[in-house]
Parts: sequence; C-alpha cells; structure tokens
Amino acid sequence: MLDKGFLTWPFFEPRHRALAAALDAWAAENLADIDHHDVDAACRTLVERLGEAGFLNLTAPGEDNEKLDVRSLALTRETLARHLGLADFAFAMQGLGAGPISLYGNAAQRAAWLPKTRAGAAIAAFALTEPASGSDVANIALSARRDGDAYVLDGEKTWISNGGIADLYVVFARTGEAPGARGLSAFIVEGSNPGLKIAERLEVIAPHPLARLAFENCRVPASALIGKPGEGFKIAMGTLDVFRTTVGAAALGFARRALAETAQRAAGRQLFGAPMAELQMVQGHLADMALDIDAAALLVYRAAWVKDMGAARVSREAAMAKLYATEAAQRVIDAAVQLHGGDGVRSGHPVETLYREIRALRIYEGASDVQKVIIARAVLSELEHSHG
Ligand SMILES: Cc1cc2nc3c(=O)[nH]c(=O)nc-3n(C[C@H](O)[C@H](O)[C@H](O)COP(=O)(O)OP(=O)(O)OC[C@H]3O[C@@H](n4cnc5c(N)ncnc54)[C@H](O)[C@@H]3O)c2cc1C
Repeated sequence: MLDKGFLTWPFFEPRHRALAAALDAWAAENLADIDHHDVDAACRTLVERLGEAGFLNLTAPGEDNEKLDVRSLALTRETLARHLGLADFAFAMQGLGAGPISLYGNAAQRAAWLPKTRAGAAIAAFALTEPASGSDVANIALSARRDGDAYVLDGEKTWISNGGIADLYVVFARTGEAPGARGLSAFIVEGSNPGLKIAERLEVIAPHPLARLAFENCRVPASALIGKPGEGFKIAMGTLDVFRTTVGAAALGFARRALAETAQRAAGRQLFGAPMAELQMVQGHLADMALDIDAAALLVYRAAWVKDMGAARVSREAAMAKLYATEAAQRVIDAAVQLHGGDGVRSGHPVETLYREIRALRIYEGASDVQKVIIARAVLSELEHSHG
C-alpha cells in the first residue's frame, strides 16, 4: 500500500533500507497493544521496548556508532510516526533529551547516561522553555548560582515533554557570564533531585507526558555542568540543529499514513454509483497530497544527508525541512479528514488521531514563524557575504 520508492533515493545507503524494513516489521508486531489511557505507562513501555529491540542505540553514539546518523533518526521517526505517534514521541525524546550530553558532554557524563538512555533504562527530557521564554530563548530566567562544589538552580520550566516521568533532565539556566544568550549554561538534573518538583501536569490535544517544573534550591554538583559556563545557548541550538530535521521526519510519517488511509478509502468507497477515486476532484486532492509528501521528503532527507556528510551546522536546511514538512503534513491530514467525511472526525479514527497529532509540531522546537526567521537570516547573510 505505502510507496517505499523513496528508499532508493540517493540520500540512503543499504543500512538505511535495512533499518526501515526491520523497524516497519517490528512496529507492526509490537505497537498494537499499547494502552493510551495512561500515557505515562504507555511511554515507559515504549521506551523499554524500543530499548530492548536496540532501536534506541540510534539516539546517542555508543560503541557501535561514533556519531549520530541523522538519516537513521529521520527514517526511524518517520516509520514510528506512521504506526503510532506516541512511539515516535518516546523515541524522539530519548534523542533530544540525551542530545546535549551526546553532542557536548564530557566522557564521564556520556559514560554515566548514554548506556542507560540507549538501553531504555533511563528516560530523558530537554528543559529549555519557560513561561516567559519560549521562542525568545535568550530570555531564560531560571538561575544557576555557583555555591562551592555545586550549582543551585531556582526558577521554572514549562511545556517539558517527559516531565513527570524522566530520570534525566537537561536544564538550561542563566549563569550570567554575559547578558542574554551568552549568559546561559546547561546542567544535568536527575529526576529524583529533591529540589525538582512537578508543579503541574499539562494536558494537550494529542496526550503525552508534559509538565511545568519548579526548581527550588535545586543543588547539582559542579560536574553536572555540560560544556563550559556560558555555552548553554550554543548547546541548545546545536542540539536542535540535529533534531529539528527529525521533527519534519515525524510530520512526514503522519502525512504518509494520512495519504495511505485516504487512497484506500477512495478506492473502496462507492459514491454516486462508482468508486470515489474516480471523481476527478478527489484525484486532485490525492495528487496534491502526494506532491506535498514528496517535496517534504526531499527537504527532510536533504537536511539529514547534509548533516551526515559533515556539515558543522545545518540551520537553514533543518529550518526548511521542519517548516515545510510540518505545514505540508497539516494540509495533507486536513485533506484526509475531509475525504473521510464523517468518519474523519470520529474519535479514534486514524485520520482524526493524526489531525490532533500534527498540530503541536508546527509550534515546538521553533514555531513555523521562527523557522522563517532562520531561513530569511540565512538568505540575508548570503547576500552580505556575496557583497563582502
Ligand atoms: C506539545 C509540546 C511539547 C513541548 N515539549 C518541549 C520540551 O520537551 N522542551 C522544551 O523546552 N519545550 C517544549 N515545548 C515548548 C515549545 O518549544 C514552545 O511552546 C515554543 O517554542 C513556543 O514558545 P511559546 O509557547 O512560549 O510561544 P511564544 O514564544 O509566545 O510564541 C507564540 C507564537 O508567536 C509566533 N512567534 C514567535 N516568535 C516569532 C517571531 N520571531 N516572528 C514571528 N512570529 C513569532 C509564533 O506563531 C509562535 O507560535 C513543547 C511545546 C508543546 C506544545
């Protein structure tokens, strides 16, 4: 049913095709019995299963891989999203949460945490956003004050995925070396730290573990600092640079599922005495959906490929991939709901679930408007260089 022709595109190597096939088969076998009524328990089970099956090895470098392979991350997210949004979420957060450690941590930090996040024995979270600092990351207020051999964190984080179930939080805090973005640092905070409280659990349209966190006199050893004081903004942006492309990949997986459901529906449903798929306006929708999907796929795989080929930063490519793929998936899924008629808005129908799942992807890890700002800045800086 699903067109897998994209796996022959030149972005991929045989190992990527093998991964996509193995994961697809695994997902078909291992995700059907996940109970969504308790998202915390569901996510714990998913992390455990993905860890046992070895797929979490892709989320952080270990003995088997020296660096993150963004094409593998993208294909994994795309495939899991096509099967089950929560499975994609569980996989993605292990990568994003552990990302600052795997990309910028020292040997002791990597040895302490990465074997656990890769095995599914520790759940990871990435704590950047605050009530007054979402898109405006440089405005972070949560403070980290040096006190002898420790840092003491005070303040609040919100919209933190895996908040409430994580064993490991990477927390970005103001250490004040310089104003704004240059005065931030990144810290490892264990979920069991008595100074870290779950202030509020947040409910959203596509449920997953999410919380507002309160840090009150939260002491961490100085060895919990990732990189150097003042490098927090660089660490956050460098981590997002790798993982932002994979948000586009998840959107692509949702869109592929929506098209597959819709094509099947159009072929099977009789309307006005013939299969619905014979109506040319329906064909027009199907064509637009397929076009949006291929264009999104090209941008996502391009961004992943450029990073894997050794580019230091891929801000422009990753922004394009995330922006286009998430917006395109919203269009594709909206068309899928429309073409399913009443069934499209029926609670629990796959396209209704996709309709709820896709929305937040246009907001988190940089809203669509913010991606446009990143792309425009890149265009303008190219102009400056060409004049210089
Ligand atoms: C489901 C979900 C999961 C999340 N998980 C995490 C997580 O694990 N860790 C974490 O740290 N954060 C997480 N977030 C937070 C997320 O990254 C922020 O919500 C996002 O960055 C937007 O910040 P904000 O909500 O404060 O909105 P604001 O910053 O107030 O922005 C609101 C809107 O203003 C517009 N806007 C913003 N900036 C600009 C601009 N420069 N130009 C034009 N328009 C602009 C955009 O449309 C944007 O959506 C999550 C959010 C959601 C919804």
